[in-house]
Amino acid sequence: MEILLDKNLQEMEQFVIGLGEPKFRAKQILNCLLLGNKPKESTTLPASLKAKLADYVCQPIKIYRDIKGKNAVKFLYELYDGNIIEGILMYHSYGNTLCVSTQVGCRMGCKFCASTLDGLIRNLSAGEILGQFVAVNKYLGGTLKDRKITNIVLMGSGEPLDNYDNVIKFLKLVTDENGFNVSKRNISLSTCGIADKIDRLADDFPGVVLTISLHTPFQEKRQEIMPIAKVYNLDKLMNSVQKYIEKTGRRAVFEYTLIDGVNDSVKDAQQLRILTKGLICHINLIPLNYVKERDLKTSNNIENFKQQLENMGMSVTVRNSLGSDIDGACGQLRRKVLGENKDE
Ligand code: SAH
Repeated sequence: MEILLDKNLQEMEQFVIGLGEPKFRAKQILNCLLLGNKPKESTTLPASLKAKLADYVCQPIKIYRDIKGKNAVKFLYELYDGNIIEGILMYHSYGNTLCVSTQVGCRMGCKFCASTLDGLIRNLSAGEILGQFVAVNKYLGGTLKDRKITNIVLMGSGEPLDNYDNVIKFLKLVTDENGFNVSKRNISLSTCGIADKIDRLADDFPGVVLTISLHTPFQEKRQEIMPIAKVYNLDKLMNSVQKYIEKTGRRAVFEYTLIDGVNDSVKDAQQLRILTKGLICHINLIPLNYVKERDLKTSNNIENFKQQLENMGMSVTVRNSLGSDIDGACGQLRRKVLGENKDE
């Protein structure tokens, strides 16, 4: 099935010409889609064109459920093929951040994450990733010129660099001046560490904030909790991160989910300092969200750990867990709802 939201303006122009329509219709269709509307609702498109477009997937995604928390809204979306994915909108003082998913499920197998429990179901297309932005912007009453989402983080379910081409296309679409024109600087891409794809990102789309899910500075431990570390070891990963920083001049962010007895000791903090020495970077400590299928607890040493890093001169924050009151950790809400539906 062809998804129209996958197309940029030039591709849409080719498409409408192929339908035997004048080129200027492309912009009208694109505007209609980016506002979250269906062509049949449009007042500018002629009935004959609307009829032709009925054969295509125009909006590949719709909000299936919204759950409002204190400073966040959690969304479940239904894809056009019936799959369910999730995302979260966070209200910050500086604007609204949308966390988007890039895959249905995930095949990375990290031991603390709920998204990967069923493996990878399928990749999302560029238009399906963009569709999350479109749907939530509309939900907030936003338009193209007056969009209500300022920042994007690719931190929902899935591993963005395991769906490389579609993610790059999404980044191009969402930053396109014919579209939402989001600044690269306001986009963070979070990866478990597929080093060779980080190298490619530095060539194909430099400028987005690179966020690495590090979680431990020790290779052996990392292999245990993040299987991808067997393919790309820490040396290789840090090398790619350094190259990315050099190429883009932007600091990298390391995410570090603190797990009781796994990565929260004095030794861990010291090794983290050694590993990141000389890199322009920031450490984001994350309390572990409890996942009932996993036998892991969050650390009760978070403040000490932070203090220790700061004492060694590192830039560090503890992520305030916006959305943890509404199952904000990736994959958890989807599983809960799928489980509920199974019981029905
Ligand atoms: N695959 C990408 C992006 C998705 S995960 C990545 O690995 O970065 C987004 C972030 O949430 C990652 O840092 C991930 O390690 C973290 N995360 C996963 N499960 C978590 C949990 N139960 N509690 C806290 N953080 C978790």
